[in-house]
Amino acid sequence: MANYAKPLPFIDEDNKQYWYYCRQHELRMQKCARCGHIRFPPSIICPACHSMDAEWTKLSGKGKVYSFVIFDRAYHESYKDDIPYVVAIIQLDEGPRMESNITGCSVDDVKIDMPVEVYFDTVTENISLPKFRPAK
Ligand SMILES: [Zn+2]
Repeated sequence: MANYAKPLPFIDEDNKQYWYYCRQHELRMQKCARCGHIRFPPSIICPACHSMDAEWTKLSGKGKVYSFVIFDRAYHESYKDDIPYVVAIIQLDEGPRMESNITGCSVDDVKIDMPVEVYFDTVTENISLPKFRPAK
């Protein structure tokens, strides 16, 4: 964990709460207090109704593979031992889509609409990355 060499997320005022919950191994996103829209990535304003009131709602962590690519080339030196690996867009059950990795199965087993569930990869003391694996 101390020697984690891959790029890390940049934490700013808008997303620091998101990463705080990831550190607790909870997938939470902003739910608009006015219209109920759940948004991602984090932002100060609801894209549906422009309200600035929101709460961090806990998601199920379940979703489906919306789209994916298999990386068979390391575009960053620190990923060379991981290839081939999957970068996917996950359609979360609650509505938002997010990018992540699919692990826990062969890259050849990843399919569109495959049910997946989140888990957290604690890579530093401050960062736990939400990743996905086939749903049980
Ligand atoms: Zn709204």
